[in-house]
Amino acid sequence: MDTQHSRRVLIAGGGIAGLAVRRALHQRGLPSLTLERRSVQADAGLAINLPGNAVRALSQLGLLDALRETGSPVRRREYRTERGRLLFTVDEDAFWGSETGPHCLRRVDLQRLLQRDLSRDDIRQGAGIASVRQDPQGAHVELEDGATEAGGLLVGADGVHSTVRRSLFGDQVLGAAMLASQSWRFMTPNPGVEAWTLWAGAGALFLLIPVDRGEAYGWVSVSTDRGGSADPAATRGAFAAFPRLVRDTLDAALARPDAIYHSPLEEVRIPAWGRDRVVLLGDAAHATAPVWAQGAALALEDALVLARLLAERSDWNDAGAEYERLRRPRVEHVQRMTDRLSRTARLPDWARNLLLPVVGPRSYRATYDPLRMPAI
Ligand SMILES: Cc1cc2nc3c(=O)[nH]c(=O)nc-3n(C[C@H](O)[C@H](O)[C@H](O)COP(=O)(O)OP(=O)(O)OC[C@H]3O[C@@H](n4cnc5c(N)ncnc54)[C@H](O)[C@@H]3O)c2cc1C
Repeated sequence: MDTQHSRRVLIAGGGIAGLAVRRALHQRGLPSLTLERRSVQADAGLAINLPGNAVRALSQLGLLDALRETGSPVRRREYRTERGRLLFTVDEDAFWGSETGPHCLRRVDLQRLLQRDLSRDDIRQGAGIASVRQDPQGAHVELEDGATEAGGLLVGADGVHSTVRRSLFGDQVLGAAMLASQSWRFMTPNPGVEAWTLWAGAGALFLLIPVDRGEAYGWVSVSTDRGGSADPAATRGAFAAFPRLVRDTLDAALARPDAIYHSPLEEVRIPAWGRDRVVLLGDAAHATAPVWAQGAALALEDALVLARLLAERSDWNDAGAEYERLRRPRVEHVQRMTDRLSRTARLPDWARNLLLPVVGPRSYRATYDPLRMPAI
C-alpha cells in the first residue's frame, strides 16, 4: 500500500450509509473516496421517516438547522384498525423532546443534506465495485470498468445485496422479513392526514405520513397469504374493508404504475460485520424490515461510531472488531423489537385490535427508550 493512501478510507456505495460515513470522516479530518455504482438513486423521489435517534445523529453531523428547512416534523402517530377505529396515539414530540423530534423528508433531500458543504472531488458515480482484495495494510478494489483503487480500510456501505459482503463471506441467503415479504412505496397528494397514520388489518398495512408541498408518503405491505405478490394491483383486494380514504389513495397510486416502487422486505442477519481491513455498515451489515423506521438511523449512528474509532487510532487493524462490539447490542435490540411487533401484526384482527391499545404504546416505549441514549 502506498503511504499516500494508508489513512484513506474507501467507501463502497453512496446511499445514506455511504454518504453518512463520508461526512463523519470529513468531520474528523480523514480522507475518503466514495465509489457509487449508479448515476441516480433509484428511490430518491420517495420519502423517509426519521425517528428521534436519526435526527440526533444528523445533529451530530452538523445538519440539524438544515434538516428543519426541509420536510416536516412528525409530532404524533395514530394507529388505526382496518375499519379506521383509532386504537392508540403516540405523542412523539413529548417522547423525543422538541430538539430531536422525528422528521419526514424526501430521500433526495436527505442525500443532499448529507453532502452539504462537501466538495465532490472524493465521490465518483457510475463506479461499481466488481471485486475486493485485502492485505495487512489495507484493501484494494477493482471496478467494473477495470480501474483499481486502494485505501487503509474499505467500508462496505453497498446495501442489502452488498458486493463487499459477498467478497468476505460468499453468497448468503437473505431472510424475508417476518412482517411481509413485499411492499410498495409512493408519493401522493395528501388526502387529509395530519399525523403519521397507520391502518392495520391482518397481513395488510397502509401507512401515510405528511411530507411537504401538500404531499404525503405512502407505504403499503401485504403478506403472501393476503394476496401479496410483486404485482401491486394484486393488493387491492386486501384493502377492500379499509376506509374510503385508504382505498381512494391506493387507487390513485395504482393509476400511476411508474410512480409506485416495489420494495421487497429483505433482511441481513449475519454473525460478523467484517474482517480485518473490510467493515460492513448500514443495510449491508444489518438490513431490517422498516417496522420501527430504523434503517437510516442505524446507518447514521454506524457512521459516527466508525469515524470516531478510525480518527482515534493510528493502527486500524482492530477498528472493525471494536466498531462491531459497540454497535451490535443496539442493532440487535432493533431486530428483536422488529420481530416482536411483526408477530403482533400477524395476529387475527380481533386479537390484534384487543391487544394493541395496551401492547402498542408499551412496544413503542420499549423500542425507542434505549435509542434515546446517544450512540456516541
Ligand atoms: C420499504 C422500505 C421502507 C423503508 N423506510 C424507511 C424509513 O422510513 N426510515 C428509515 O430510516 N429507513 C427506512 N428503510 C431502510 C432504509 O432505506 C435503509 O436502511 C437506508 O437507506 C440505509 O441504506 P444503505 O445506504 O445502507 O443502502 P442503500 O440505500 O441500498 O445504498 C447502497 C448504495 O450502494 C450502491 N452500490 C451497490 N452495489 C455497489 C457496488 N458493487 N459498487 C458501488 N456501489 C454499489 C447502490 O447503488 C446504493 O446507492 C426502508 C427500507 C425499505 C425497503
